[in-house]
Amino acid sequence: MKLKDQTSSQDRLMTWDDSFCFKCYPGVDCFNKCCGNVTIFLTPIDVMRMRKALGITSEEFLERHTHRLISHNTGLPAVVLRMNENEGKTCPFVTEEGCSIYQDRPYSCRLFPLDTANGVEYKFIAKPETCHGLAESETWTVERWRKEQDLRYYDDPDHNLKDIMAADQVWEEPIADPRMQDMFLMALYDLDRFREFIFKSSFLQKFKIDDDILEKIREDDLSLLYFGMQWLRFVLFGQKGFLKIDKEYLEKKKREVLGSQG
Ligand code: SF4
Ligand code: SF4
Repeated sequence: MKLKDQTSSQDRLMTWDDSFCFKCYPGVDCFNKCCGNVTIFLTPIDVMRMRKALGITSEEFLERHTHRLISHNTGLPAVVLRMNENEGKTCPFVTEEGCSIYQDRPYSCRLFPLDTANGVEYKFIAKPETCHGLAESETWTVERWRKEQDLRYYDDPDHNLKDIMAADQVWEEPIADPRMQDMFLMALYDLDRFREFIFKSSFLQKFKIDDDILEKIREDDLSLLYFGMQWLRFVLFGQKGFLKIDKEYLEKKKREVLGSQG
């Protein structure tokens, strides 16, 4: 496909079989220009990978490199990568050689020059006037691009998250309780704090969790993230899933409360 065709088809929706031309490399004259003055929403997997690549805790990462937005519709927090406070509002990870965390760069940086359109189809997000990589002759299908960028890794957690975000209960009544918003943030984005919460609070007195699950979430961030999604389903919608509440603990707490009132 020549550039002329691609320019005229900028607004088309593409499925996995559709093709486009693109190549991004240090020789292109716009190299690094797109790594600034941009709003990048981070997925939980992005935060999980980026903080590991930087060798810092999830709490440090969120504090240093992100800011939060609250969705009007759901009341749930979204995490956005914080750009530098310089004239070009450059990304903190861009260097002359390109992205310094290339292997662990965020989902939307991987997908660029495309973006998802409706969860099934894709559209161009880059413009040929500014992204000269679109004028290169290397041809990709959407499917091959997804494979090259390792995007399958994100599909399942992403699907799970959409499931939580789209739940009727959330949309009908936006969450206004800051403690609930913080639980959402902790369980999905602040995995070190979530792990501490599970193992160092009374969490394991309240919930009976199978030993094999505990073993996995103690060490493995991805398992902990899936666990967090399950826990959020319980906290937000009362769906218990594999979480079993310890009835003796609840009875004990009830007696304590009744005792303190009497
Ligand atoms: S994370 Fe990497 S690819 Fe994404 S904007 Fe920053 S430097 Fe560019
Ligand atoms: S604008 Fe396009 S070609 Fe230029 S650096 Fe960004 S992605 Fe690569």
